Amino acid sequence: MKKGKILVVGFGPGDEAHMTFRAREAIVEADMVIGYKTYMDLVSHLIKGKAIIRTGMTEEVTRAQEAVKEAEQGKTVAVISSGDAGLYGMAGLVYEVLMDKGWKEEEGISVEVIPGITALNSCAALLGAPVMHDACTISLSDHLTPWELIEKRVEAAAQADFVIALYNPKSGRRTRQIEETQRILLKYRDPKTPVGLVKSAYRERQHIVMTNLEDMLNHEIGMLTTVIIGNNSTFYYDGKMITPRGYQRKYTLGEEKQQLKPSERLKPETEPWALHGGKKENLPKFEKKNSLPAAIANEALNIVTTAKTDEMFKQTPIFEFAVSPGVWEKSMSASQLAMLAEIVGDNGEVRYTPDHYLQVSVETDSPEEITARLEREGWELSPVGNVVHVKGCDFCDGEKKESIPYAAEIKQKLEGLKVPKILKIGFNGCGMACYGAVTDDIGIVYRRGAFDVFLGAKSIGRNAHTGQPVVEGLVKDELVDLIVNIVMEYKEKGLPNERFYKFFKRVQQIQGFQYQEMYTPVEVNNPCE
Ligand code: SAH
Repeated sequence: MKKGKILVVGFGPGDEAHMTFRAREAIVEADMVIGYKTYMDLVSHLIKGKAIIRTGMTEEVTRAQEAVKEAEQGKTVAVISSGDAGLYGMAGLVYEVLMDKGWKEEEGISVEVIPGITALNSCAALLGAPVMHDACTISLSDHLTPWELIEKRVEAAAQADFVIALYNPKSGRRTRQIEETQRILLKYRDPKTPVGLVKSAYRERQHIVMTNLEDMLNHEIGMLTTVIIGNNSTFYYDGKMITPRGYQRKYTLGEEKQQLKPSERLKPETEPWALHGGKKENLPKFEKKNSLPAAIANEALNIVTTAKTDEMFKQTPIFEFAVSPGVWEKSMSASQLAMLAEIVGDNGEVRYTPDHYLQVSVETDSPEEITARLEREGWELSPVGNVVHVKGCDFCDGEKKESIPYAAEIKQKLEGLKVPKILKIGFNGCGMACYGAVTDDIGIVYRRGAFDVFLGAKSIGRNAHTGQPVVEGLVKDELVDLIVNIVMEYKEKGLPNERFYKFFKRVQQIQGFQYQEMYTPVEVNNPCE
């Protein structure tokens, strides 16, 4: 008699495009296919003419026993599971039934487990990239597992900042489990933590909801949903749920963390928690004779055995912010500089930026203390990143002071406001505009008792150009509202990372001002041709 075989097949989320080649082949190869009714329907086109056994959802053990019985008769039997058969699927059950009979593969039937795309992967792909980092799956079904243990696992995963995929989150009868889970998660995670709900991934009734931890229960969650809970760094960007590859160490005023640019990511100083302790000198030195892995291993051993590890592995975050002496004030006093120097110390950094700021980064756990000290000394502080910066001229050392209150009001209303991309508002107090307002994203020039406004300069690149003059001689009382409205329109409608000039070009109109092309390419006749 032919030796029987069991093929335990994970057929992926549902559609054939996401089924592996081997899974498809195995179903075709089988004499008999056994599975839960709904799943059999999903692969119905592959099983025509075959012997089939369709069972209800809770009859998993029966399914495994049937499969063994049929294989013992010499048949090739495919037992199908959605997703991956080795994760809350049939693979383990088949082995358990066989073990019970004292089966050994050498003499008995053969078994092949065929991997499939599990819901964690398919649902993550539909949400964006929410997994990316250490993650775990937890089934909320207390059908085969005591609830106490599930609770413990949720608690541990929440505490350890795992991205969590909840399988079997809720059914007609099981509704409290997901509520309890949310309650535990809220002990450790921000209520705004992104949460993705994916129902029937890659099936006909696919439905995706992007929500957060506090609101998740206000949406439909059922037997066909997988719930993906972000970790502390997960965020939404342009309708996608993303978990960055690593942790962020930088933050700015009013923000807990700040995106690192890709170029900053692998610098040792932004990774104080790594084995090298954030210090360049601890990185392994590559010598020709040694292989790199051996060098790293030796160095690592050296670090952990000799260094004061407590001190080295301390993870003080980096606080970044900008300071300036004021909207028109350009000079800094000795005591201001001394205070700044003291705060920056040996390990911090100060750099000046193209927009009249000193950008400061210091390691600290207590930013409030730093900001309070600097403000007492007369420094004005702003966040860094994609925010509004208002930069005034020096108003001829304060002599041409008539328009300063307007600059101050605009700064007070808009400075530090989060926008799609850094936005510079230049405010110059006379028609000379020697601080270059017309080359800022928004330029304001005070002239003969009224304002001229320029929009959409491009100050960088080879095709740089000035802003487009949109208003001339605006009366004083209308200025502040106009500028605030322009910025708000950009904040609301700009795409992430879209610079102001690109936004103006794309939407063609801001606050009723029509876009005009300001860049004229220069044609050069090549005399050699
Ligand atoms: N073996 C399967 C899991 C079976 S447990 C796998 O690896 O994916 C059943 C749970 O899986 C469901 O409650 C749901 O949480 C999840 N699930 C399975 N298929 C899904 C799909 N297509 N879309 C969303 N969730 C799915």
